[in-house]
Amino acid sequence: MSTRDLLAEAHSYAAAYLEDVVHRHVGSTVDRKTLIDRLGGPLPEVPSDPHVVLANIVRHVDPGIVASIGPRYFGFVTGGAVPVTVAADWLASTWDQNGAMYVMSPALAVLEDIVAGWVLEMLHLPAAASVGFVTGAHMANFTCLAAARHEVLRRVGWNVEEHGLQRAPRVTIVAGDHAHVSVIGALRMLGFGAHEVVRVPVDDQGRVQLEAFERTIAGMDGPLIVCAQAGNVGSGGSDPIAGMVVAAHQRGGWVHVDGAFGLWAAAVPELAEQVAGIDTADSWTTDAHKWLNVPYDSGLAIVAHPAPHRAAMGLQASYLIRGADEERVGMDWAPESSRRARAIPLYALFRTLGRAGIQGMIRQTVTLARRMARRLTSEPGVHVLNDVVLNQVLVRFDGDSVRTSDHVTVDVIARVQAEGTCWAGGASWFGQQVMRISISNWSTTEEDIDRSVAAILDCFRTALRS
Ligand SMILES: *Cc1c(COP(=O)(O)O)cnc(C)c1O
Repeated sequence: MSTRDLLAEAHSYAAAYLEDVVHRHVGSTVDRKTLIDRLGGPLPEVPSDPHVVLANIVRHVDPGIVASIGPRYFGFVTGGAVPVTVAADWLASTWDQNGAMYVMSPALAVLEDIVAGWVLEMLHLPAAASVGFVTGAHMANFTCLAAARHEVLRRVGWNVEEHGLQRAPRVTIVAGDHAHVSVIGALRMLGFGAHEVVRVPVDDQGRVQLEAFERTIAGMDGPLIVCAQAGNVGSGGSDPIAGMVVAAHQRGGWVHVDGAFGLWAAAVPELAEQVAGIDTADSWTTDAHKWLNVPYDSGLAIVAHPAPHRAAMGLQASYLIRGADEERVGMDWAPESSRRARAIPLYALFRTLGRAGIQGMIRQTVTLARRMARRLTSEPGVHVLNDVVLNQVLVRFDGDSVRTSDHVTVDVIARVQAEGTCWAGGASWFGQQVMRISISNWSTTEEDIDRSVAAILDCFRTALRS
């Protein structure tokens, strides 16, 4: 039994899955107990035939797999994977490269430099910015905010990497009321408490109100970090970044932009106005596994100022080999040391689609989100609560004489998930229950939207009758 046979089997399982994914019930069809019964059991004591192991994994995980790579998964903000990126990701696993240092994989180090340059160019960010390849936006927020913490404290003569935070000058952190939880999570890991973050009111799209922001920071002095957002996880709306940067920089602050998906608006001319001024910020988070449609996990931490980025992340030890200055040390820019070759699928994506193809992919999802909103609201009793400016649609369903709108909306979401044509989650939007729909997949078509609308409206009508 050869490696080739095993890989051929994996190939055939994978191809069958991807061919069928369009037709699958989108959500999981089994409960947790069934999965444990089928997959669990005592710790294996002796070896097994790997072919049997692989076959059993495929058979037993299958009903618990969520077809999030398929065209009608609208949960959270979830990208699919452009086929060449899946193929390239297999090769990344095959080569099994470590991205920590140049000497461990010159090819990967060079690919990371190349992809970093292309990303900066597409997003119109400063060419000298440093880029770390991380697991996702949460870790990108962590990395960027660590660089911010370093720099604002360095400016007042405090080396936080050497002396820590406990006796450091106080750092003021400001974020919009709708800052993503992962920004708060990142701050927590950096030694800042969630309640220390000064929150700024937002408008009905979840965007920071600029005047309120300016008022908030007017009286502040000392080290200041501002967390802005491109692409609200509910509405898709973006903070007034240009104005926030001007005001924050006047006070010597550092502006970090969480643009897990929204940053890619900068790459598309007709959407770029929404994130005007982002190039003037100090650091940026974005995901590749959302709107760029590469496989999990893949995020980018981008910092305009490489020195604080490296100061916050870099490590030194006698056996860690730093080569010539131009030889990339991947671990200088990310919180991990050993790290998989995330640049390979990204490189394949940029080569295959090019700028035009990536713009087209983003544009298409925005057009489809508008179609989704239009078609849903042609039904009486269905409302879209946000301006559909990017790929996000927030839907609310009217109640009836017996049940509130909240109740019916939650009921419709549960029915849609169980029915399986598509999958959408829920959230609370300014205190109201909503269905969250995110169109982020390269393979979604108009027909997928129309089928999904029909299924959602059926669930709504059934919910009203029940
Ligand atoms: C999804 C998202 C995150 C978290 O991203 P992960 O990739 O899950 O770590 C952070 N911020 C925003 C705005 C997001 O949409």
